[in-house]
Amino acid sequence: MRLAVYPGSFDPITLGHIDIIKRASKIADKIIVAVLSNSRKSPLFSVDERIDMIKNSIKDIENISVDVFDGLLVDFMKKVGAEIIVRGLRAVSDYEYEIQLAQTNRELNNNIDTIFFTTNVKYSYLSSSIVKEVAMHGGSLDKFVNLYVKNMLIKKCNSLKGLKEL
Ligand code: ADP
Repeated sequence: MRLAVYPGSFDPITLGHIDIIKRASKIADKIIVAVLSNSRKSPLFSVDERIDMIKNSIKDIENISVDVFDGLLVDFMKKVGAEIIVRGLRAVSDYEYEIQLAQTNRELNNNIDTIFFTTNVKYSYLSSSIVKEVAMHGGSLDKFVNLYVKNMLIKKCNSLKGLKEL
């Protein structure tokens, strides 16, 4: 079975991520979307919230599951028995970091290969950070995330604003 892992922070999952998941699901037998829990970035959403949003976004695709990992990705890959990593490439700015990551993972385990999906042009500008910025300032989120994620973002921003006002 061709098992692939799509790792990331998914804070939150965007339409760009969903596009990559859908395309990757056609070339692998099964995809595990793996949420990084020990990111150095301080996430807006908890791991459980991020998993919930991913599950809700991919419920129509059969061969996808969601899991969480901390520590090294190669250790998680070994645990689940996967040798393919899926990543997305948006612009040249992604390239340097992504190539470093792919080569490091291959040095750590030379059975592992990374497959890159070039972004859908529609989403080439889109990142979770930009989406959070727009949400914090009350901008329209419809072109960036699905309805479920949009509502989660609005709820989260409102609760953070409420905390600030206390
Ligand atoms: P990380 O913190 O590991 O970069 P992200 O959740 O930001 O995690 O992204 C996970 C993967 O999805 C990365 O390979 C990233 O380049 C890719 N990605 C993010 N946004 C898009 C997009 N709009 N189009 C295509 N790929 C994307």
